[in-house]
Amino acid sequence: MHQWVNKVSDFIMKKHYEVIIIGAGIWGLSTAYHLAKYGQKGVLVLERNSDIAAETTPQAAGLVGQIRSTDIMFQAIHYALDLFSNFPKETGYDTSLQQTGSLMIALTPERMDAYKKQIIKAKKNNIEADFISDGEISKLVPSINLSKIEGGFFVPNDGYVDPYECASAYANAAKDLGVEISFNTPVKGLCQEKNEIHGVETNEGIIESANVIITAGPWGALLVKETDTISAVQPIRHQRARTMPTDNIPDVHPVVRIPDLSCYLRPEKGGYLYGYFEPNPVSIDLEKMPAEFRTKDLEQPITVMKDAKNRLSPIFPILNDLDITEYNRGMTTFSPDGAYMIGPVSGIDRLYLATGCAALGIAGSAAVGKWLSNWVMNGDPGEDISDFSHERFGDKVADLEWLRRETEDCYANYYSIRTE
Ligand SMILES: Cc1cc2nc3c(=O)[nH]c(=O)nc-3n(C[C@H](O)[C@H](O)[C@H](O)COP(=O)(O)OP(=O)(O)OC[C@H]3O[C@@H](n4cnc5c(N)ncnc54)[C@H](O)[C@@H]3O)c2cc1C
Repeated sequence: MHQWVNKVSDFIMKKHYEVIIIGAGIWGLSTAYHLAKYGQKGVLVLERNSDIAAETTPQAAGLVGQIRSTDIMFQAIHYALDLFSNFPKETGYDTSLQQTGSLMIALTPERMDAYKKQIIKAKKNNIEADFISDGEISKLVPSINLSKIEGGFFVPNDGYVDPYECASAYANAAKDLGVEISFNTPVKGLCQEKNEIHGVETNEGIIESANVIITAGPWGALLVKETDTISAVQPIRHQRARTMPTDNIPDVHPVVRIPDLSCYLRPEKGGYLYGYFEPNPVSIDLEKMPAEFRTKDLEQPITVMKDAKNRLSPIFPILNDLDITEYNRGMTTFSPDGAYMIGPVSGIDRLYLATGCAALGIAGSAAVGKWLSNWVMNGDPGEDISDFSHERFGDKVADLEWLRRETEDCYANYYSIRTE
């Protein structure tokens, strides 16, 4: 065991909390909000930066799409849309949800066949989704070049949020309910004794807590590694760009996903935002990075976004006339099957880890916060989330080459045609 996993008896306890959450990204803040909403007292969020949501979260496109491949994720996104839309009424804070719908574009007959199955599955899960005509497509998205597409279906209740605004809404609501957030407080280690968590070590010393939840995004796996746990996730760079504003975007414009190009697009600040899952993913080994390495240190994704533009511009020729005004990039954590990694860390009581957000952590944040809160307060996540168990890959996780290969494959094929 590494020296920075300290024994509780090595320190004098300074203060006692019931739950410490490590990381004030959108997962940590949703968890803090849910705990407080369910009546949990003594919740402290520790964040090493000087603001909330300063790493992966603000880089996101914020898409909240209901077309998923598993029942649990259908339910999770349903819960997110419900929570986000009712949040202003319930808390006074706006999550910035825009329910513009989303348009799933097909470029091939094979994709249209896959869409038929997705629509049937969506309807079984009570989600409105149907093929629409070319005329309807161009009404919704006037800049689309219909001659280059096969067709598409529309999901009217899908939408998107501004991820920072959404995280702020959780943070403000949590604070109103008594949650404390401590900034500039990096957690340096976990304190445990006899396989039980007792708190965390910070620069200010030990902070004692009955429960510790790690929602440290790409850094979560590093924190638990020191408890002899290997978390089966790989941070992989993901990126998006935003163009200069244009008058050609209607006030209400859906999210457009073009899985055959591994691209998505939506309006932002008067221009187009587009994102891209490139075929040759870039993994990041955080263990080899200096401790101060942050999201902002990732290289600007100029070349890869040029590739995205080349893919998209036959369908959206307007992109050729619009300069890019902003690039965003961050590290999404991928597990080998692309599903979340959430739950207790085996062998250490009352220590929980949530990671493996894939590129779905904004949309999933509501459910993740709910599951973790239920787990801490009731000993059970409240729904069957065994799909996300930390143990599901068995001993294979020790094979780091396997882990990298599988996770990169998962990222590169994020939008592949699914057969299930
Ligand atoms: C370009 C891009 C587009 C995306 N688009 C979408 C999308 O459209 N829809 C969607 O749902 N998701 C999307 N995502 C994914 C989404 O951004 C993530 O899933 C989500 O932000 C993960 O949130 P988090 O709270 O787990 O991590 P983070 O936001 O990274 O938060 C982790 C926090 O932990 C803190 N921390 C780490 N270590 C410590 C420590 N030792 N002590 C104290 N604090 C610590 C960090 O400072 C950070 O604030 C996208 C991601 C990218 C990069």
